[in-house]
Amino acid sequence: EVTLRSIQKSFGRQTVLNDVDLTIRGGELLAVLGPSGCGKTTALRVIAGLERPDHGTVHIDNDDVTHRRIDKRGIGIVFQAYSLFPHQTAAENVAYGLRVRGTGRSSREARAAELLAMVGLADHGSKYPQQLSGGQQQRVALARAIAIEPRVLLLDEPLSALDAQVRVQLRDEIRRIQYEMGTTTVLVTHDQEEALSMADRVAVMRAGQVEQVGTPHEVYRRPATAFVSSFIGVVN
Ligand code: ATP
Repeated sequence: EVTLRSIQKSFGRQTVLNDVDLTIRGGELLAVLGPSGCGKTTALRVIAGLERPDHGTVHIDNDDVTHRRIDKRGIGIVFQAYSLFPHQTAAENVAYGLRVRGTGRSSREARAAELLAMVGLADHGSKYPQQLSGGQQQRVALARAIAIEPRVLLLDEPLSALDAQVRVQLRDEIRRIQYEMGTTTVLVTHDQEEALSMADRVAVMRAGQVEQVGTPHEVYRRPATAFVSSFIGVVN
């Protein structure tokens, strides 16, 4: 479980997160939706520890991690494309987090092979990122993120650079792996259809605040505000 309490974050004079309270339940996939610039990515970066909030707290499974370094939070992150280390093979990328933790070479290699198989890339471990398609690269990034068995998985537009067919296929894969591992997951996306089809619950943000949190069905059928209604109603 991840809990944001009274999170405030400004850049200069611009308030980007304005008193955000949000709980991501243990094991669920919560999608964060909202217009460009509403603070979705910043909220994710606050959970990751890439941004320090001006005010408020972040808890992961009852630990106050507000002042904890990113690598001590037990999180895995997948950003948009191009997030792999270009000079490492797919297998080395996946094993990276394990190496940092001091896992020995043979168990690292075995685990990397297992994870690559899980994302359908059993035969691609020795390739470098530029030898892989965009969809394959994002699969490697996903395998790398889950290699350390994170308590929380943060996905920021992980599919936005991919073509439609690969995107739909990867949605299902991410959902399956996330569900099997029971990893609490936050997905930031522009794509409503993606959010509504993948998420257990959806948080709709507007101008630095969370307007509504509910199941896809709830936000679609019973929007809490006129904004949610117009935002979710618009097919883009
Ligand atoms: P998008 O959907 O377009 O990615 P978003 O909802 O993820 O948008 P954020 O990336 O969180 O929005 O940005 C929210 C606001 O904060 C934007 O106006 C952005 O310009 C500003 N912002 C984000 N990071 C910084 C920063 N490091 N310095 C200054 N302003 C920033």
